[in-house]
Amino acid sequence: MLYSGAHSLHMALMLPDWGNTILFLNDAISIDTLEPAILQQLNQRNVKLDTRKIAKIENHCDLKFENGEQSQLDGIFVSTFMKISCSWMAKLGLEIDANEYSEAIKTNTMKQTNLHGVYACGDITRSGGSVAFSVADGAMAGVAVHKSYVFGE
Ligand SMILES: Cc1cc2nc3c(=O)[nH]c(=O)nc-3n(C[C@H](O)[C@H](O)[C@H](O)COP(=O)(O)OP(=O)(O)OC[C@H]3O[C@@H](n4cnc5c(N)ncnc54)[C@H](O)[C@@H]3O)c2cc1C
Repeated sequence: MLYSGAHSLHMALMLPDWGNTILFLNDAISIDTLEPAILQQLNQRNVKLDTRKIAKIENHCDLKFENGEQSQLDGIFVSTFMKISCSWMAKLGLEIDANEYSEAIKTNTMKQTNLHGVYACGDITRSGGSVAFSVADGAMAGVAVHKSYVFGE
């Protein structure tokens, strides 16, 4: 796991259930600034901390560090922040939910937004991507749109 913010700590704590996990701090944060409770959790979950700065990632996942050392990994995860890039959504007056992981259009359980007749579904309405959730959202939004045509809600 490559540290890029608080979310990386969350992901590093989840990943050991799938395999050996190393959290590369990569000079993005100093080990001294990590809270003792987090360090304890990482230790309990067998997450190894690596403080070396990465200079390059090559091929599948070959890490080259600034100190000249190298490591080969099976894979690397990077957590990202999902930002809504369409300015027209804000102009329309759609309510947006934001947390440390993402921005998302706010909807009710029927996928209706705060604007009458405007529905939203999928990743744009959630923190974190999932095909299953997006498909279910789409089905729910479809039902809700149909219902609104018939009953005018
Ligand atoms: C690398 C990667 C791996 C993933 N692996 C998994 C996995 O293993 N399992 C899983 O469940 N999920 C996975 N996901 C998440 C999954 O892909 C998403 O949750 C899912 O595709 C979301 O579907 P969606 O229809 O909400 O959005 P999208 O699939 O992103 O579709 C949105 C569409 O809208 C289009 N669009 C955007 N802006 C506009 C605009 N202004 N006008 C018109 N069209 C526009 C885009 O081009 C795109 O085609 C992965 C995602 C990534 C990036």
